[in-house]
Parts: sequence; C-alpha cells; structure tokens
Amino acid sequence: MIEDKDFITSRDVPGPTKENIRAILLYKSTVTNEDSVVDIGCGSGGITIEFAQRAKNVISIDKNPEAIKITGKNLEKFNLKDKVDLIENDAVSALKKLDKIDIAIVGGSSNDLEEILEEIDKKLNPKGRILITSILLDTKIEAINALKKLGYKPKIVEVNISNGRILDRGVMMFSENPIGIISSKKDNND
Ligand code: SAH
Repeated sequence: MIEDKDFITSRDVPGPTKENIRAILLYKSTVTNEDSVVDIGCGSGGITIEFAQRAKNVISIDKNPEAIKITGKNLEKFNLKDKVDLIENDAVSALKKLDKIDIAIVGGSSNDLEEILEEIDKKLNPKGRILITSILLDTKIEAINALKKLGYKPKIVEVNISNGRILDRGVMMFSENPIGIISSKKDNND
C-alpha cells in the first residue's frame, strides 16, 4: 500500500482516496493480474496507482484535465505509465468507446451515475465487479437504486476511519469522513 502523503497532489484535484479505503477496495475487488480495470473519476490517481500495481491494465477516466495531469505525474513517480491509459473525457462518452471490463471503480460521477452504471453493465464481463465510493449520502442511495434497476444485488458498507496521533499524555483519534462503499458482482445471486 502507498501512504497518502506519498502521492503528488494538487489543490484543484480531489484525492487521493485515503489509504484504508483503498485497502478495502482492493480486497473487495479481488483484483488479479488478469483483470482489466476502469477507474472512473480518477482524480489524483490514488485508486489508479494501487490497481495498476496489481491488475493487467487500467483505463483511467476524468473530465478534469488537471486530474489527468496529476494522475499522469503519479504514474510516472511510481513507474506505472505502461500499465495505464489516461482518458480525458466525461465518463459516459469514454465508457461508450471501451470494450470488456473486469472491474469498474466509480469515484466520481457528477449527475450521471445512472447512465455511467448502465454503460459499465453493457461492458462488464460475466464475472465482473463494480465498486462505487461515495461521500455524499445522496450518491449512496442513487448507486443502490441504479444497480437494483440493472438487476444487481448491491451491498453497502459505511466506513468510519479514525487515525490515532500519539501524544505525550495519550492517544488522540482524528476521524475521516464516513465513506460508503457500494459493491456488486455481475454473477451474484445470493
Ligand atoms: N479516487 C480518486 C479521487 C476521485 S475525485 C483518487 O483516489 O484520487 C472524483 C473525480 O471524479 C474528480 O476528479 C472529478 O473531476 C471526476 N468526475 C466527476 N464526475 C465525472 C464524470 N461524469 N466524468 C468523468 N469524471 C468525473
């Protein structure tokens, strides 16, 4: 795992997704070196980098040119440029041009989440996985409803992380924003 502080960041680009959330996403995705991954809303590249180290290849999409630039810088820093295609475009248009997807991660969607998930579903392999991270309460509900509509049985966990700071007189905990992780498997029938 890469520590948050080791990513190159920019004031104008959100991310990276915090380390403990990245760890849960990696675990839930069951990523292997045979998987083609799409990172939608790649931001600073936090998710892109972790998956590029483990997957066959990653396609990273962001509509913000600055996000593409920062993700590119991080790929260079971690020597992963060969593993990743960067696409500067809105998610729906970019997804329309893609082929088969094994793992789709959605970290940003603006108001297009339903359409983004429809496009992912068209391209997702029979054993494919979808993971959505959400900071907004609204997106959590929207994601669940959109996945249900597409025939999935989504799961949601709300992750509340606190980090301890060791002080002279004790340990003080600092909490991060609660993040929803919504996950679905194409072939999940439980
Ligand atoms: N997971 C990232 C942070 C994501 S921030 C990391 O670890 O660094 C969310 C990103 O989604 C932003 O950069 C934003 O520009 C992008 N985004 C939001 N809606 C989008 C859309 N419809 N199409 C493409 N990118 C989008």
